[in-house]
Formats: sequence, C-alpha cells, structure tokens
Amino acid sequence: MEQPSEVNVLEEAKRLISIESITGNEGEVMGYLEKRFKALGCRVKRYEAAPGRPNIYAEAGGTPGETPALLFHGHLDTVPAYGMADPFTPKVIDGNLYGRGSVDQKSGVAAVIAAFEEILKGDLPDRSFAFVGVIDEESEHRGSMALKDMGIKADFGVITEPSDLKIGVGCKGTAPILLEVKGLAAHGCRPWLGKNAVIAGMFVADKIMKMELPSIEMEGLGEIKASINLGKIEGGEAYNIVPDLCSLWFDRRLIPGETQNDIICDIYELIGNLPGTEEFTFNCRVARPDWNWPPIEARGLHPAMTRLEAPEVSVMKSVHRDILGRKAELFYTDGYHEMDFLVNDLGINAVQYGPGKGALCHTDEEHIEIGQLTECARVYQGLIREFCYIK
Ligand SMILES: [Zn+2]
Repeated sequence: MEQPSEVNVLEEAKRLISIESITGNEGEVMGYLEKRFKALGCRVKRYEAAPGRPNIYAEAGGTPGETPALLFHGHLDTVPAYGMADPFTPKVIDGNLYGRGSVDQKSGVAAVIAAFEEILKGDLPDRSFAFVGVIDEESEHRGSMALKDMGIKADFGVITEPSDLKIGVGCKGTAPILLEVKGLAAHGCRPWLGKNAVIAGMFVADKIMKMELPSIEMEGLGEIKASINLGKIEGGEAYNIVPDLCSLWFDRRLIPGETQNDIICDIYELIGNLPGTEEFTFNCRVARPDWNWPPIEARGLHPAMTRLEAPEVSVMKSVHRDILGRKAELFYTDGYHEMDFLVNDLGINAVQYGPGKGALCHTDEEHIEIGQLTECARVYQGLIREFCYIK
C-alpha cells in the first residue's frame, strides 16, 4: 500500500481553502465533500443540520450498518477573513500553505481525504472506517449537536483539529456567562438619587475575577486549571446620566467535573454575600454575544477526557512512532473542541490529532507546514490500517 503523497494532500487542502465556508455558508464546501467521498467509493450520507447547511458522513470498508471501528471528525466552517489578505486563494510560501482554514481546520480534513483515497485503492478492510464533516463549530455547534440524530456510532474517534501532531486526550469546557446588573437611572447632577449599575458591575466583577478556581493534577499531563476572562462590558448612555444597566460577559473555562450550572450558582452565592448588592438586581445566565439558539445554551460546552490508559491511546502512540519515527507527546488542551460531543453525547472515546499549530487559528497569518500536513495523512492511513484490518 502506498502512502498519501505530498502533492495529493496539498492539492486537497488547497481545494478546500478555495471554497469559502465562513460559518453559515458551508453549503458549497459540503456539496464538494459529498461528491469527493462518493467518487472515492464511500457510502455517503447528507444530513441537514441547519437549512442549506448539511453535515456529510462518509463510510467505507466493513459491512454497511455495523459500528465503524474508527471515526474521523472535522468541521468545515471557518472564522471570517478579518484582516487576512486574499484568504481564499491558497498560497505556498517557503514550504507553508497560507489561507483561511489552512490550520482551523481544512488541512485535517484534507489529510482524511488523502488517507481514505490510498486505503480505497487497495483491499478494503474488514471493519468500516468513517468521517463526519460538520458545520457551525465556530458558533452554535449545530453540526455536532446533530450527531445523535444522525445515529453516529464508532468504537473510537479522532478529532482532526490542529494539535501539532500531538495526541490531545482532553479539552476544557467553556461556559459563556452574561451577568446583567440593574440599578436606577438619575441625572448626573444628582447621582445620590440613582443606583449606578456600572459601579456595581465593576465591584462585583472584581470579586468574580478573584474567585478561587479549581485545578486538578493529572498524571502524565500536569496541572489542569480552570480559568476566567472578563471579555466585554456594556453600560451607560451618556456621561451625565447615572447608568441603570450594566452587562458583563465572562468566558469561564471548565475542568472535568465542573458544569455551567455550578458556575452560575457560585456567582449568585458570591453576590448574595457582598455588602451593598441588595440595592441592585443581578441576573446571571449562559449567553454568548453570537449565540441565538436555545438548545446550545441549555446544553453548554462540557469538558471531555479520554483516559491515558485507554488501549486506543496506545495504538495512536505506536502508529505515530512507527510512521514518523519519533515519540508522540500527550497533552490536555486549554481550548475547547467538539471531542465533547463524541465523548459526552455519543459515548465514543476520542483524541484530538491533527496538523497545524493551534496558536495560528483565527489569525491573519494562518498557515500550515506542508510537511506536517503530509505526515498527518500518513498517520491517518496508518490508523485505519491498525484499527480496521483484522490480523
Ligand atoms: Zn477548529
């Protein structure tokens, strides 16, 4: 069996980058994927996760209807261009491929396609392998919210988000928290008649930011800490009016064992014990400026973890070492990704493994090292061999 060639993987990544698919506009790239996987000989299903925005599922090998031994998961939406010059014209400069989505995360998907292509040229494996491409990862997660309804199953999953070819065994959850403070408006010349919601909001925010945050020590991974960031404040109409409203948006990252409801309860409890706060009304809930879909607010984005001792993690490590000739590093990311849905909704053990550096995601310099892109396709091919052929 041949390995995916650099030329093929690179062409695949370029094609995906050249189809603009900013969140909300995934229709065309999904249409392309549907055709591409069909042409490779996969059994392909399309599922409307939102109007005109399908998820695409492609499967091959094994017996139709059985649980696939291995499932790759990737999102096809990207963030907007922001300040990136010519973001949808892929360019190769000094061994790197530039373009929006090159890291986050069309290269991971390109590596899957290239690996499937090589496998499908030879004898098909005894067990099936699959890919699910989802929409809306950068916003309300409507694609992965639909995985249950799609009936997605697998023995093991690989999230193809960039991990710099390290093995990610977990992600933190993220709880977007909106705290609204209501006071009383008055003319700025008689502030004693009003209740200043901005001052109350600043007072409470300071205490919230100083709350003790939990951490856990994980063997082989080090300390994993919860975190909080105050990202946005709104309040006040004019300099000479006492503001009656203040809105504060917090980004609270959760470690295993924490839930978004715990966080909200903790914040209410803290405020309840602060002197002077009884003069104001506080409303705290899960909300994000770009979220407008109650199901995701209700579900939240949970932490996820696959045990280091899981046998599949050992297989990942040995395939990586055998194919790339170096040891794989394990890590637990500070970020969030949709491993949450595989682990927590579908009960599928999963890891994050993909090409590219996470720090380049969403930046104007987004680019992928072509060598790493090719390495990733080869490891994916090796994983299919290891998980799906019965020896
Ligand atoms: Zn991503």
